Amino acid sequence: MQYYESVLDLIGNTPLVKLNKVTEGLAATVLAKVEYLNPGGSIKDRIAQRMIDEAEASGALRPGGTIVEPTSGNTGVGLAMVAQQRGYKCVFVCPDKVSEDKRNVLKAYGAEVVVCPTAVDPEDPRSYYKVSDRLIHEIEGAWKPDQYSNPANPASHYHQTGPELWKQTDGKITHLVAGVGTGGTITGIGKYLKEVSGGKVQVVGADPEGSVYSGGTGRPYLVEGVGEDFWPENYDRELADRIVEVTDAESFAMTRRLAREEGLLVGGSAGMAVVGALAVARDASPDDVIVVILPDGGRGYLSKIFNDAWMTEFGFMGGSGETTVGEVLS
Ligand code: PMP
Repeated sequence: MQYYESVLDLIGNTPLVKLNKVTEGLAATVLAKVEYLNPGGSIKDRIAQRMIDEAEASGALRPGGTIVEPTSGNTGVGLAMVAQQRGYKCVFVCPDKVSEDKRNVLKAYGAEVVVCPTAVDPEDPRSYYKVSDRLIHEIEGAWKPDQYSNPANPASHYHQTGPELWKQTDGKITHLVAGVGTGGTITGIGKYLKEVSGGKVQVVGADPEGSVYSGGTGRPYLVEGVGEDFWPENYDRELADRIVEVTDAESFAMTRRLAREEGLLVGGSAGMAVVGALAVARDASPDDVIVVILPDGGRGYLSKIFNDAWMTEFGFMGGSGETTVGEVLS
């Protein structure tokens, strides 16, 4: 018989797939790491497992405890899945820009979800950061993983995702391109690849226009899961060789192209990262192997990025004088 002991054994070891259509005319090889094939549907399963493992080991999380975390959804799914398997309760706090589909996924695993306004300062008592801080004090046996500062977040990528990429590419990877949210992915994978390659692998961050990583003020943008209005501890500011700034219009147009031209139904941050990867590929040589991280799948965005009415309402599909999908595609 061939089977896994539990769903948690399905985390990691995701495949690389070559992008063939969106890369037309570019000589370098662009490989996508398909993280939506993790059992919770995103790259965040990896950090959820390691953060909980380490909290159990240190005694920060005790049997029957409650996990409280501000999350845009994916980290919540990973935590909810691991918590379900190990008997913990979960309360998640997320900003109101997160799609209802995503919130319902969290509830499906048995978690509680608290929704907070996006358009307030992080220091505002209504912000999702502050509300989760308050809940930590109010709930007995509460533990906050804090993916923004928990070293287990980048460590999961340093010890797992990074070595996977080195092995899968037979050490031929020349560039890593990843979106930056907490910074865990780029910092963990990037640090490992820099070390193992003797500094040869170039690390490139993709960031929504408006976010601090690409020099913005933190003003709102619509792509979910990436960009920040503050500098998280888990982001190593010294590591990235380059940051590519990407507009919402570019991210969403590429997200749609990935489904229609590559058969990859992914989220907006994956589209954003691919826009970054293509910018890198344009300056690369034919021998270069560029790996781009696709953090999650597109099912959580059917009512937004894959919905023409929503795209039109926000000016991404013609008529409004804004950049249109048609213009970005051509
Ligand atoms: N894309 C999505 C959809 C995410 O949920 C996240 C995590 N916030 C990221 C990208 C960014 O990953 P990281 O937090 O490791 O920088």
